Amino acid sequence: MTKPPEHSPWAPGPDGYYGDFGGSFTPEILHETLAELRTAFDSAWRDPEFWNSYVELMAMYAGRPTPVTYCENLTQRFGGARIYVKREDLNHTGAHKANNVMGQGMLVQRMGKKRVIAETGAGQHGVATATMAARLGLECTIYMGEVDIARQHPNVFWMKQLGAEVVAVTEGTRTLKDAVNACLRDWADSMDDTHYVLGTACGPHPFPQMVTYFQSIIGHEARRQMLDAVGRLPDRVYACVGGGSNASGIFAGFLDDSAVELIGVEAGGKGIATGLHASRIAGGQGRPGVAQGYKTLFLQNEEGVMQDTYSVAAGLDYIGIGPMLAHLHQKGRARFESVTDAEVIEALRVTIRNEGIIPALESSHAFAAAFRAASSLSSDEVILINQSGRGDKDIFTVADALDDDDWKNFIRRKSTEYGR
Ligand SMILES: *Cc1c(COP(=O)(O)O)cnc(C)c1O
Repeated sequence: MTKPPEHSPWAPGPDGYYGDFGGSFTPEILHETLAELRTAFDSAWRDPEFWNSYVELMAMYAGRPTPVTYCENLTQRFGGARIYVKREDLNHTGAHKANNVMGQGMLVQRMGKKRVIAETGAGQHGVATATMAARLGLECTIYMGEVDIARQHPNVFWMKQLGAEVVAVTEGTRTLKDAVNACLRDWADSMDDTHYVLGTACGPHPFPQMVTYFQSIIGHEARRQMLDAVGRLPDRVYACVGGGSNASGIFAGFLDDSAVELIGVEAGGKGIATGLHASRIAGGQGRPGVAQGYKTLFLQNEEGVMQDTYSVAAGLDYIGIGPMLAHLHQKGRARFESVTDAEVIEALRVTIRNEGIIPALESSHAFAAAFRAASSLSSDEVILINQSGRGDKDIFTVADALDDDDWKNFIRRKSTEYGR
């Protein structure tokens, strides 16, 4: 696959700004290591060999290129637009996160650093990072809130088997934001030999640009695949948006095709009106602000106090949004919708039954929004959905939501067996 274009009109300026958003706001102690990272990324970005080795590694190790699947049964069911799905669920470790962590891992090797650290909430990014570290022979420490550790036993177990040290964070609410702080403290002490593997297209420059660069492999493949399979580009591309990495990645393949509508789907949770959601743009409530090292639209009140967010999908439950996406919204190049948990569970059920595909709860947001539109479009029109990951990890949440009796009996039996 050819290298992505050097200078997209949507690339950030040298200071990391996408229009009004992005930049770098960090304590002075991190300036030097971020400058070093910018230099390393810049040189890798200019080196066509680096991109080629990345594509080769992802083919040999992660199963790329992932296919695009025509969903004939869903297309018939909704009786409108033809529905295609880009299958990031078929990546090694089950989601698009592999693209980002393997890319950053290669950069770490290029910089000659020996150790990586990361923070994780639901554990998916932690497992992906620990996997990369095992493969590339790097030391790895994962910070995770004590509360999240208790909720995510399988992921914690695998991170440890993969050789990562999992540090339980006991400050504050003992969840993701406390893990971020602990991770940053580690980095300030260890940056000489350590790289912080940020998990999404957020944070200080150059992280949003770098993560988007690695994830753009999704969009570049998908564009080619649609031309080969359908003979033309899709009319619409749907992707779910947490921090924004899978959306930025698939959108990157179509940014310059102005006829292709780009739709980001945010977590509507229990409904925007209830306040229990994570819709920064679609909910109309995101306000410009600076936090966690960058400027974007955050869910915060007028005094700048960050709101609590909520989603059935842990990966979408975040207060900020990638600066590139905030910019695409401001410029009208992408639009944003939100879907509720209930719509998500229904879309998941329909996809499983009709196509034998189990999307992650996060990805199911993109499916739900696409389904909402499909029947009102004509059969000449083509929709492409980015399936960011697979749903195996969501078994407890989904079984609960579907109120499955067999499952409840299974859990009851197991609890008795183990005397819990
Ligand atoms: C982490 C995750 C997301 C959300 O992250 P983005 O950076 O917004 O892509 C979405 N889908 C899956 C399957 C994930 O694991």
